[in-house]
Amino acid sequence: MKIASYNGHRLGIIDGDDIIDISDLAGVSPEFWPPVGMVKLIAGFEELEATIKERIASGSRLPLKDVRLETPVPWPNKVIAIPANYVEHIEEMKTGTGLISPFKASGQGFFLKSNSSLSGPNDPIIVPNIPGRQIHHECELAIIIGKGGREIPKDKALEHVFGYSCLMDIVVRGKEERVMRKSYDTFCPVGPYIVTPDEVPPHDDINLELRVNGDVKQKANTRNMIIDIPEMICMASAVMTLYPGDIIASGTPSGVGPIKDGDTVSIHIDGVGEMSLAVKGSNTGMHPVWIKDDEKA
Ligand code: MN
Repeated sequence: MKIASYNGHRLGIIDGDDIIDISDLAGVSPEFWPPVGMVKLIAGFEELEATIKERIASGSRLPLKDVRLETPVPWPNKVIAIPANYVEHIEEMKTGTGLISPFKASGQGFFLKSNSSLSGPNDPIIVPNIPGRQIHHECELAIIIGKGGREIPKDKALEHVFGYSCLMDIVVRGKEERVMRKSYDTFCPVGPYIVTPDEVPPHDDINLELRVNGDVKQKANTRNMIIDIPEMICMASAVMTLYPGDIIASGTPSGVGPIKDGDTVSIHIDGVGEMSLAVKGSNTGMHPVWIKDDEKA
């Protein structure tokens, strides 16, 4: 099943070229703030599944091309992110520009990105104006948590996966706190919708690819992850309770590189979907924290 947010936090199921509205099933109106309808839908999904299937068979449809898809979970409890998680990317970091420090998931754990950095498949990536700094793309598979829990054992972890989505982890390269470098508004595009695991290849054999202006920059398969998806869920839930709708960015493969105003960044993940985003420059986002003491002199 493909589950989407659209037209101002409405919820829908995508069936072929159509979308079927199920906003009323979440128990939260699309106008309600904060926009937690998708979180409620995911939390109640098992109970609602039969009703949703009836709706797909008989509900009213809109052509998908006539709606505006949004980031599927706009208000999750948290966005967890796994650092460098493919062998080739670790090597790239070691031999990189020197601005980049090597982080390895198996020894580093995870970090959090701001929830407010989430954006959708029709939103541009707004890059801040930080002279001398590169802003990089990272191509990642997003895991959307279904059933929550704490201390989830590895052999039960996949039972907690609600679905998958495409995710770009956008970052200002440098040595400042990683959360700050990765939390600008629009630095976490997720979309174009959530796909349930039954429609996705096995979790350890998913191809992902990212292009900038049509040129392939990142290409990988989840079989080459350093820590796999069950281990991510086990690790995160060792520390904190996972809730329905939580998002895990599963770490980037090699090939990260700069994006700038005017670029188009596209991500494709087999069975999960694809989205192409415009990159737009802005005059906002500068702060003296980005200027190092030796540069101030
Ligand atoms: Mn990343």
